[in-house]
Amino acid sequence: MFLSTKESLGMETKQTCPECGAVWQEGQTCQDHFHQRLAWEHEKPANWAVHHLMVLCYHLQHPALYSPEGLRGAIRLLDDFVGHGLTPEQMRKRDRAVVDSSQRAWKITARSDSHGVYDRPVDWTMTAANVIEHGIDNYCDSVRTWARSMYQSLESAGILATI
Ligand SMILES: [Zn+2]
Repeated sequence: MFLSTKESLGMETKQTCPECGAVWQEGQTCQDHFHQRLAWEHEKPANWAVHHLMVLCYHLQHPALYSPEGLRGAIRLLDDFVGHGLTPEQMRKRDRAVVDSSQRAWKITARSDSHGVYDRPVDWTMTAANVIEHGIDNYCDSVRTWARSMYQSLESAGILATI
């Protein structure tokens, strides 16, 4: 078997996600982790409580999945949930028109010629891989911590001020 220099020195060659920077342990990609989390939400229905945050956070750390407009709408949605502490239920009560437009915005997906990208580097302190590490029983706490960390990263980068 061929060993690279790194491996022969006892260092594991690590594959990382080009978008969020997570380390892909044993070939598990961010998309694999996304499907793992969906499975955990089905396996333990209490985990469904943070489904809206999980989907939003996954997409925000992989902005190329969005169109540029979709990405802006998604950042505003994170601001509503984390910055303003709104639940999806409260958002619906607050203003149905706003909710409808937000949902429309963050469902806008990338086209081949146009996708979302941050206009400056964002230093993510937590990724989806960390949520998986913390396991199914800590899932709700992990996802909420992940969402807060992302909000802080976007704030530190100065991106929240631009939306
Ligand atoms: Zn990733």
